[in-house]
Amino acid sequence: MPAQTHLFLCLQDNYGVLLHDPQSGATAAIDAPEAGAVEAALRAARWGLTDILVTHHHADHTGGIAALKERHHARVVAPAREAARIPLVDVTVAENDKVRVGSLEGSVYDTPGHTAGHISYFFPAEKLAFVGDTLFSIGCGRVIEGTAEMMWNSLIKLRALPDDTAIYCGHEYTAANIRFAKTIEPQNPALAQRAREVERLRSENKPTIPSRLGEEKAANPFLRADVPEVAKSVGLAGKPAWQVFAEIRERKNRS
Ligand code: ZN
Ligand code: FE
Repeated sequence: MPAQTHLFLCLQDNYGVLLHDPQSGATAAIDAPEAGAVEAALRAARWGLTDILVTHHHADHTGGIAALKERHHARVVAPAREAARIPLVDVTVAENDKVRVGSLEGSVYDTPGHTAGHISYFFPAEKLAFVGDTLFSIGCGRVIEGTAEMMWNSLIKLRALPDDTAIYCGHEYTAANIRFAKTIEPQNPALAQRAREVERLRSENKPTIPSRLGEEKAANPFLRADVPEVAKSVGLAGKPAWQVFAEIRERKNRS
């Protein structure tokens, strides 16, 4: 039986997601924004929590760990480079490490920039990627602890995953991201199509994620800093992609 996922909103605009392996019964929470919302999702799905896979140390991704661990004795897997800032860590991981959730096997990717030790999890057989606050649909996380160049390298690492990978990110920011993206690439047909889709989803009160990586590559300006027309549109034709990325990120910060 294939892996199952269960996505739910928590806090203001965070997403929690459960990853379930029907074969073994194992269930991982990707990040733990809020214990109550994770508990409610577990009850709704009738799954028991076995693992918590943490992407980065921010409180809106780790605030639920202590209560969940106490109740479920779940194993907490966290980025090695920021484990000291995350409660009750059992296993630390970094680039190329493998993480098992029952019979499911994921790979760890170092994706620093939003935080210095941020990691993402990719499950190749399931084509699922859990990217925290590195990549958002039609956007990306703020560069808080790293440099723009570091963040760009993290984004192109994720961009190299298969096009049909489902991208689970940490927040519902898609509509605002689209309004900004249109200022960078007003004529991009893939962006226009995504905008229509997101408008429909939001009007039905449905989540806009997961998105497919192929769609993001075509429409997300933060994955397109090495496209000549994008560089030109921000007045940086011929400049290195990371500089173009830095300019787009700056503009988003000011928008
Ligand atoms: Zn964050
Ligand atoms: Fe966050």
